[in-house]
Amino acid sequence: MTNRTTKLTLSILVLICLAILALSLTGVLPSGDGAGTSGSSQTSAGEPAAGTTGSASASQATTAPLVTGPLPVETGEPEPTPALGLRRWPAHSCLPVVRQPDLSAYIGKADETKPLQGITVILDAGHGGHDGGTSCADSSGRTLIVEKDVTLAVSLQAQKILTDYGATVYMTRSGDDWLSVYNRIAQTGKWILDRFIAELPGRGYSGEAVAGLLPQLEAMIAINSDAADSGGRGLMLGVGASADARLLLDIQNQYPDVVLISLHCNAYAGDSAVSGLQVYYLTNESKYSKEIEYVQYSNSADNPPAYTLYDDTSRQELAMQLRDSILNQFPELKFTGENDLLAGDYAILREMNLVSALVEMGFVTSPDDRRILLDPDCQRRIAQGVADAVINYYCGQ
Ligand SMILES: [Zn+2]
Repeated sequence: MTNRTTKLTLSILVLICLAILALSLTGVLPSGDGAGTSGSSQTSAGEPAAGTTGSASASQATTAPLVTGPLPVETGEPEPTPALGLRRWPAHSCLPVVRQPDLSAYIGKADETKPLQGITVILDAGHGGHDGGTSCADSSGRTLIVEKDVTLAVSLQAQKILTDYGATVYMTRSGDDWLSVYNRIAQTGKWILDRFIAELPGRGYSGEAVAGLLPQLEAMIAINSDAADSGGRGLMLGVGASADARLLLDIQNQYPDVVLISLHCNAYAGDSAVSGLQVYYLTNESKYSKEIEYVQYSNSADNPPAYTLYDDTSRQELAMQLRDSILNQFPELKFTGENDLLAGDYAILREMNLVSALVEMGFVTSPDDRRILLDPDCQRRIAQGVADAVINYYCGQ
């Protein structure tokens, strides 16, 4: 190497070093220890900065935001209107993968003390307040059972058991309150959206594209009505999904570590011998065929496209586990009719893209089922069946 070449090489190296130093000081480059840039009030990893309290500040102190740009959202147009009259959104997410929990870590952990640590279960006790749901009275008109009381009692018992197993439990209601179904959909939607927005900076994204969803969900919660003309259904249209609704459902699709279980009771006034448990779940095709029916009745050519990214397999699996685990506690609740596992187009299953199922725990019109549904110890055993189902769903092979 000549003397001149050596001088030139040294000069280039000095320039590179100066450039790196300048970038480090301006905060463009992260520092090597992950504890934030120099000169800030941040402390070493894991310790909240002085004057701050709580777990939120602890996590902020450990991770410097590395936002590189807004979350990209695909706005592609769906296929042309087919002969049946309802287009479908493409069967892929309009969002990049922001979170992907490793569910394989739960497999085989059923016997651990806290097998559901990290899992969230949303329990939806059907009805409440002025909406008692279904009921049954004796010949003198005396009320024997009211659905809303049973759904709440079992949900509260399931909350205790699931919490003991390490799950986070979110209750859509925990008292005798009336909340519209769309209020419950918006509450849970907001609960997940808040978490998603909080996770975005850690993945390099700012959240402008999804921020507009929050006020829409807050309005649905405030209006608290299921009536179609009330505004309470907000961005959820019933038939088809707007671009905003698709966005919200695609966000929820990134939460396979959350399940929703809605608890109800059945009634069949014509025959008190009809009894037992039925579990409903929703699939893409069952929902689409219902939507096609509505479109034909409404004769509307401008419905937004149908949403197509529900996880059919997981929904069916959860429904099956619920049926089997509750029947394991109560073989007497075996359905006397033909089908105890059914596709159902309920709003609570349709307007949220979580793995979900709706359990009809028994018939209030059956004396045998009433004995089980009203007894506190039997309610606890049904709740145990619900909790076992969640464990089997996540921890089974
Ligand atoms: Zn009900």
